[in-house]
Amino acid sequence: MIVCKTIAECRREREKLGKLAFVPTMGALHEGHLSLIREASKHAPHVAVSIFVNPTQFGPNEDFSRYPRPIEADLELCRSAGVDLVFNPDAEEMYPPGSPEISIDLPQLTNVLEGQKRPGHFKGVCQVVAKLFNIVQPQVACFGMKDYQQLCVLQAMVKALDFPITIIPCPTVREKDGLALSSRNRYLSPDERQRALAICRALFAARDEVSKGIRQTNRLVATMQQIILSPGNLGHVPVAVDYIAAVDPVTLRPKEMVDGGVLLAIAARVGNTRLIDNILIESAE
Ligand code: AMP
Repeated sequence: MIVCKTIAECRREREKLGKLAFVPTMGALHEGHLSLIREASKHAPHVAVSIFVNPTQFGPNEDFSRYPRPIEADLELCRSAGVDLVFNPDAEEMYPPGSPEISIDLPQLTNVLEGQKRPGHFKGVCQVVAKLFNIVQPQVACFGMKDYQQLCVLQAMVKALDFPITIIPCPTVREKDGLALSSRNRYLSPDERQRALAICRALFAARDEVSKGIRQTNRLVATMQQIILSPGNLGHVPVAVDYIAAVDPVTLRPKEMVDGGVLLAIAARVGNTRLIDNILIESAE
């Protein structure tokens, strides 16, 4: 496995490989990332992973400086997963001092949900992913549905800017008890981890209601709110909700009825840790 720290090195090594599938990450790799790597290897004979905690997608009061960076463990995981090329640049390599400001925005998709709560976040995501695509030049790139809005935004960016890259959406990997895997789960104390389960439980309860025939999304949202806000035997409300939404899976606009598909999405804070999760209900007869 080749590990490149500079753009020039990465370009040189990439040239030696043929068709390439790419998994961009911020590191602190877990089974969710590994599932993307496995999926990537089905689409091309070679796989590249980037490990880069991108400063431009973090807000001023977010967790950029404390974001976990266990690079040696990450490289070992990549190695055992059969990754060919890892691109692990420093921030100065990606954003040399004096580089001009640039922004890619897809406002119809970014002024809702995460984009509304994290101003500038998706500009940072588009900036870094566009740069990574130009550096790594993959034919295929895999992204997790755990970050559903990110996936939509990047699919739209690739289409709008004619990147010759196929985006593969990959399902969310969860712990046995339902908690969606996230690098940020490392921040959770045992008590917080228990409280964080309210998020996926709310989503699962709403999905159960759909399977019982409920079609109005306001009822699903009410169910999710009730679960998230009920103290249960914890004695206090488990998490602080940022949003609970039922939206069209393509436009990300609020949707009244489930029919034809709906995305149920939750963002909530557990202590100092902000978590997101979602469930896609493809269609309900
Ligand atoms: P991150 O390192 O958090 O930027 O994530 C890198 C990629 O892994 C993104 O495409 C994420 O959507 C994806 N990812 C993160 N967590 C999961 C998960 N639990 N299941 C599937 N994909 C995930």
